[in-house]
Amino acid sequence: MSQHADLVSMETKEYKMLIGGEWVDAAAGETIDIVTPIDRNKVIATTPRAREADADRAVTAARSAFPGWSQLPFQKRQEALLKIADRLEEEIEDLSALTALDTGNAIRTQARPEATNLVASFRYFAGLAGEVKGTTLPSGDGQLQYTRRQPLGVVAGILPWNSPLMIAGFKVPAALVAGNTMVIKAAEDAPLTILRLGEICAEVLPPGVLNVVTGYGAEIGEALVVHRDVDKVSFTGSTLVGHGVASKAGARLAHVSLELGGKSPCIVFPDSATEEVVDQVLLASRFARQSQSCTTGSRLFLHEDIHDKFLQMLVAKASKLRVGDPRSEETDIGCIINAKQYDRVQGYIDDGLSQEGVGVAYDGRESLDVGEPGFYHAPMILTQVSNDWRIAQEEIFGPVLAVIKWREEDDVVKMANDSHYGLAAFIFSQDLGAALRTAHRIDAGWVQVNQGGGQVVGQSYGGMKNSGIGREFSLEGMLEGFTQIKQINVKLT
Ligand code: NAD
Repeated sequence: MSQHADLVSMETKEYKMLIGGEWVDAAAGETIDIVTPIDRNKVIATTPRAREADADRAVTAARSAFPGWSQLPFQKRQEALLKIADRLEEEIEDLSALTALDTGNAIRTQARPEATNLVASFRYFAGLAGEVKGTTLPSGDGQLQYTRRQPLGVVAGILPWNSPLMIAGFKVPAALVAGNTMVIKAAEDAPLTILRLGEICAEVLPPGVLNVVTGYGAEIGEALVVHRDVDKVSFTGSTLVGHGVASKAGARLAHVSLELGGKSPCIVFPDSATEEVVDQVLLASRFARQSQSCTTGSRLFLHEDIHDKFLQMLVAKASKLRVGDPRSEETDIGCIINAKQYDRVQGYIDDGLSQEGVGVAYDGRESLDVGEPGFYHAPMILTQVSNDWRIAQEEIFGPVLAVIKWREEDDVVKMANDSHYGLAAFIFSQDLGAALRTAHRIDAGWVQVNQGGGQVVGQSYGGMKNSGIGREFSLEGMLEGFTQIKQINVKLT
């Protein structure tokens, strides 16, 4: 039974957090107001403002649950995850609607796919339960030399606000299936779907296996990172915060993985000025997610031979995207998360417009017919951008596409790699040789060829350079990220 009967109403609800199977307030009794991006004046919920004492309670609960959970035969963990997947699937519509309200992501284009992805993640990792296994070395009859893959222990999963359910799907089923127990920290800007996920999991899991805490990063987030009984920190968020998390977790030699920001290149070759490619480039631009996606193809490199034609087709399609209430099935683009992020996006636009030689191919703000009290923003396509401008180097996390012309393959590869980030890349060419040659030369953890969406459960996911350390969402991500190897050598007599 949910904490609240009508999860998606705009009435203010008082949420509690999940520790040791109980729904509790913060130890200090403090709360945070949760405002929906749809209406800046509307507090739709309060959540506990957890701090150090709450981190301690949650980690203690996860530690107590660890022996029982980790020692289960793998089929039992598999069964539990499959049951959770079934329950999540029953609730996809509610989870989608709650995502729209909580994050501003449009229900048809984003929120529902995120909820669907979560179900797929639980099923996928349930299927991997028996793969958490060791090896034996052929060391002769007198020796038995084998390894065991063991869970790490208590994992703290720290989540961002941009697609909370999808990112939870990268971490929770992978960590749990390997036998770890968890404390998940929801983002302060969008905690509601994660609390609901906690409720559904708690119907199935023993108390303490999954705990969900809420509050600010500098308080409960940091308290988890420095807690000496947290064995692993699995962090998804900005590169800036990730640096601090890595150094604090590293200082006590805890395991840590980081999924951070990006400024991904999208390269179109001269043979690819087609409607199909324009559609895929639009997907890569993540305009339909207000470009609040770490894998946004935010630097568009167009070959000079097709630059003008491609841009014309792109603008024609971008201008048809409908910005509106994220709860409506008609909407393509929902809301930016909050006022701070909205102002940040404006700041980048102003900076881009102030550069000498910049062109404006499309400024959707002019025809926007929705506005306050929601944080609505239309796409913006800036051209003749230089790769060293801030709008081409920094992660804007808003619907601003920087278009850069190129001529020689070596030059575009050099520009694409001239970035601190290395999360994703997109390459469009009918010449598979050229496409793959380029894919192999780009510094990015995930390169897509001739498509802009296409994320599938089971693929390796993670960044190079300042975009992160470690991989998730895959068999190797689960094994490397949430287990450790023990070698056992036996003399047989
Ligand atoms: P953020 O770094 O501000 O916050 C992420 C999480 O960390 C939040 O839960 C926050 O409360 C917590 N946090 C903040 N300070 C902390 C601290 N000192 N110690 C511990 N935790 C702390 O990021 P955000 O604004 O929520 O999310 C947007 C960023 O996340 C973007 O940079 C985006 O690229 C990145 N992101 C990356 C991926 C990926 O898979 N690589 C996916 C989604 C988002």
